[in-house]
Amino acid sequence: KREEIDLKRYIRNIPDFPKPGILFYDISTLMREPDAWQIAMGRLARQIAPWEPDMLAAVESRGFLTAAPLADRLGCGLLMLRKPGKLPGGTISHTYDLEYGSDTLQIQDDAIKPGQRVVVMDDLLATGGTLSASVTLLRKAGANVVGASLLVELTGLGGRDKLDVPVKSLVSYE
Ligand code: 5GP
Repeated sequence: KREEIDLKRYIRNIPDFPKPGILFYDISTLMREPDAWQIAMGRLARQIAPWEPDMLAAVESRGFLTAAPLADRLGCGLLMLRKPGKLPGGTISHTYDLEYGSDTLQIQDDAIKPGQRVVVMDDLLATGGTLSASVTLLRKAGANVVGASLLVELTGLGGRDKLDVPVKSLVSYE
């Protein structure tokens, strides 16, 4: 039965990607299975709907893949948080620290009307660095960030504790 399908069966682990010692959870194998992908999108839509978002904010690049079908199902807007230099027109940036070095995300400066309810979406939560930077950037742009939604959560890294918004994920690993 659809309700009982375990999505973990469709998510593949790849050792030593992108660097030695890292176990990568690959959602490509889930996306390739139409029934499983539909079930995943249905479950995510039911998790997000109670937040009543005006917009989904998708984090480059796998976040785009989950957010686009969900914005369609939920009937809300869709916006992109991108690496520098990809978005046309005026942008707002936020630079954040990584273990080694730093990274920057950008949003179009007119993407959000002040106070709009925004849910931020990515495929996976690990340390929480990407998602907390996304929340900060969205707030700079005037958003009321009402939640964060993930397909996969790696609970052992404490990413959820870095976020001051409610977090929901479909599948979690220690
Ligand atoms: P964080 O910033 O929470 O440490 O890492 C999360 C970001 O890195 C997300 O944008 C996610 O796409 C990517 N990421 C890190 N590890 C994995 C992984 O094992 N699988 C996938 N699919 N993405 C990952």
